[in-house]
Amino acid sequence: MKVLIADDSIVSRHMLEATVKKWGYEPVVACDGKEAWEILQKEGSPQLAILDWVMPQLTGPEVCRLTRQQQKDTYTYMLLLTSKNQREDLIEGMEAGADDYVTKPFNHHELQVRLRAGRRIVDLQSELLVTQAALRQQATHDALTKVYNRSSIFEVLDRELIRAEREGLPVGLALLDIDYFKTVNDTYGHIAGDAVLREAARRIKTAIRSYDSLGRYGGEEFLIILPGCDEACTRSQSDRIRRNLAIEPMPIHESSHSDVSLALTASFGSTTALPGHRISAETLLRIADESLYEAKRSGRNRVVFRSILGETEPLLAASAS
Ligand code: GH3
Ligand code: MG
Ligand code: MG
Repeated sequence: MKVLIADDSIVSRHMLEATVKKWGYEPVVACDGKEAWEILQKEGSPQLAILDWVMPQLTGPEVCRLTRQQQKDTYTYMLLLTSKNQREDLIEGMEAGADDYVTKPFNHHELQVRLRAGRRIVDLQSELLVTQAALRQQATHDALTKVYNRSSIFEVLDRELIRAEREGLPVGLALLDIDYFKTVNDTYGHIAGDAVLREAARRIKTAIRSYDSLGRYGGEEFLIILPGCDEACTRSQSDRIRRNLAIEPMPIHESSHSDVSLALTASFGSTTALPGHRISAETLLRIADESLYEAKRSGRNRVVFRSILGETEPLLAASAS
């Protein structure tokens, strides 16, 4: 673990550097407060810091104050090292954001255990961040296919519609449903069905652009949001995804059906929110859903696109232009 050592005294700096190295830390050295602050702002900066109180440019407490004001995910544990030993000094240092305080001349063993206490805090916080990220992923993504879950893809849609309205851009929407998926389950079992859903999600992902979003809308239904896509783009993108899904048979790994592969297709209902037409997410989803139903009825493995024109009144500003 890296430890920042900020001290303007060269003797003190070298001594601290050698000492923390001996304890297994990786020292990062700063000659004054400004340099310390610059180091702490960088990506991957030390999360443990020993700061001398009196330093040119910025004092130790000033570095603490600036660090605490900074919006950073990772915690920096800061230890002030100083010959000031009055109770008011301690309070001032801790008020500035320091975590701990060691008076000079310091006792080596004391500094060692205080650094270890800091390390425990830093380690705990890292574990917390990992857990938090995992929980966030769980709450927003579908466990089986790892794409957005239903509520998250709705949030994305709402967000994209607001942004598109602000920027005067269209938003494409494609709702797809795998054709005859029930027969996959019925013939090869639910586990094989799950694998097919995962592979379908993977194939859709490879066909969309990095700023498009994919979510699991229901059992074997997926919703794709295509920001900036006009009607022609929504049609062509939907068809591109449809072709990519059916590009080659899906392998079925199932003990009693080894080396089986299955031609799989999907039907699409697509529509586009257009600039100058205020339209709700609910209406867009209804149009996409009705179009999907139409695609199923007219033979499956196809895209049915329906324009929102005729469904909504244009906004006044748009009709005047
Ligand atoms: P259509 O072409 O009309 O869409 O027919 P279909 O068989 O695909 O549609 P249907 O709605 O009749 O069946 C969907 C099936 O998807 C039924 C359900 O058991 C299955 N299903 C839903 N979620 C999952 C899942 O997470 N895993 C598996 N293996 N199957 C699922
Ligand atoms: Mg369905
Ligand atoms: Mg289906």
